[in-house]
Amino acid sequence: MQPVPCMDFKPLQADQVSAWDRAADVLIVGFGGAGACAAIEAADSGASVIIFDAASGAGGSTALSSAELYLGGGTSVQQAVGYDDTIEATYGYLMASNAPQADPEKVRAYAEGGADHLEWLKSLGVPFKHSEYPHRAMMALTDDCLLYTGSEKAWPYRDQFEAAPRGHNLEVEGDNGGPLLMQLLEAAVRERGVAVVLESRALRLIVEGRDDALPVCGVVVRQDGEERYYRAERGVVLCAGGFVMNSDMLNKHAPKLQRATIPIGNPNDTGAGIQMAAAVGARLINMDEGFVSLPFYPPASLTFGILVDGNGQRFINEDVYHGRVGTLILDQTWPVYLVVSVDDYADYETVSYLGAPIAATGETIEELCVELGLPEGALETTIETFNTSAAQGEDPQCHKHSDWLKPLTAPLVALDCTPGRGAFFPYFTLGGVDTTVNGAVLNEAGEPIPGLYAAGRTACGVPRRGDGYASGSSVGDATFSGRQAGRAAAQTGDTA
Ligand SMILES: Cc1cc2nc3c(=O)[nH]c(=O)nc-3n(C[C@H](O)[C@H](O)[C@H](O)COP(=O)(O)OP(=O)(O)OC[C@H]3O[C@@H](n4cnc5c(N)ncnc54)[C@H](O)[C@@H]3O)c2cc1C
Repeated sequence: MQPVPCMDFKPLQADQVSAWDRAADVLIVGFGGAGACAAIEAADSGASVIIFDAASGAGGSTALSSAELYLGGGTSVQQAVGYDDTIEATYGYLMASNAPQADPEKVRAYAEGGADHLEWLKSLGVPFKHSEYPHRAMMALTDDCLLYTGSEKAWPYRDQFEAAPRGHNLEVEGDNGGPLLMQLLEAAVRERGVAVVLESRALRLIVEGRDDALPVCGVVVRQDGEERYYRAERGVVLCAGGFVMNSDMLNKHAPKLQRATIPIGNPNDTGAGIQMAAAVGARLINMDEGFVSLPFYPPASLTFGILVDGNGQRFINEDVYHGRVGTLILDQTWPVYLVVSVDDYADYETVSYLGAPIAATGETIEELCVELGLPEGALETTIETFNTSAAQGEDPQCHKHSDWLKPLTAPLVALDCTPGRGAFFPYFTLGGVDTTVNGAVLNEAGEPIPGLYAAGRTACGVPRRGDGYASGSSVGDATFSGRQAGRAAAQTGDTA
């Protein structure tokens, strides 16, 4: 990754603008999932809206994504399929899995508003089938909707909260949810007469006055090589994504994340929104956190295997969500291997996203252990201990559910899951500007900065931990928080 050219995000004083190029009630920076939803809500609240994107089309990382949406509390699809999910179970799970830094107010709003949010998306034409994809999978490649995309059925959560599938996949074949979602959101934005300004990079915010609490009243945008000045009569909403493509910011704020190998997102995930906000005094929080994945299923049968560290020790219940595994691997003693019976290796070579090379094979447990070269006897003991309890349907050490317990039987294979040795370790950032539940950006003192709002990965929302992440909580949160921020910005002064 190339360092991002250094930019000066220092705000411009409004009295230095000799002529405004254009004005609207609400200016939105970034036309991904959050920005699109902010624009729709702001327009529906009666505001005139301009939305900018540095790219030549709408979409951002949202269009690159699978667009699974993590929504619970009894959505229409959950009900139709027969799940009695509750707001309390959704709230409890999201609070626990994002603890200790979960934001109770945001999680509460998200859990209570999840069912309505799905209906709102449906009202824009986003299709969801009343069906379930009942497999342990990264995503549904069919047009089925509901699937488990977190660790709800795994320890430590399964005994605390009633489990329910909350990942909502769009009704589209293949991994095509993101493009379809953005196509429909873009159509809804344009139908409302929102001015869409593409190939236009927001550079700096414009502020009014010279005191400490400077109201934000516009944006400097570079278009066709020239700086233009856009005035916001009511508010500016920053929806410019995260900072996974900015190596300087990663080095400064989230160095550990770079132990994973593949930053995923669009090239404009350079943290510009976060830096523009910081330059007017916004508080940045949770900046070291990110989503990290080790996508070791499908095939689901690899879940019968055991993950061991460089000391030959297990460190996790392998039935958890792939993001929890990926995050925990960053902290282990490397190398890390996934040891599995050849029978369960199954169709790994054709269906897996993992790309982990084979580190060793063994006709016997001993042969495998020798080939891996781990401390003498360690892995043998680990496998023996695991096999003894797995035969009784128990896992006192790591608490893997009995559905995924059976003794490892030779021949065995070990996949090398050490970061940097070929396995796919994607990551993106979960830190950003602190906001109220309505998207108002907060300064270091916890006070709203007048006229400034943020949503999606520019803000720090519901998903806050890599080890607690659930697929769908980023697009879910981006679209949900975008709506809140767009609505609040359209209603001047709503910073509650
Ligand atoms: C391959 C992949 C799969 C994923 N799958 C899922 C999934 O299934 N479910 C899930 O919840 N999450 C998923 N994610 C994560 C999720 O897609 C993102 O975190 C989320 O979509 C971010 O939405 P956003 O609106 O905040 O940002 P984006 O959708 O990235 O939009 C930000 C926009 O801002 C623009 N921008 C940036 N800087 C500027 C600037 N200075 N001026 C003007 N415009 C600017 C960008 O060009 C971009 O269009 C996935 C991510 C990837 C990459």
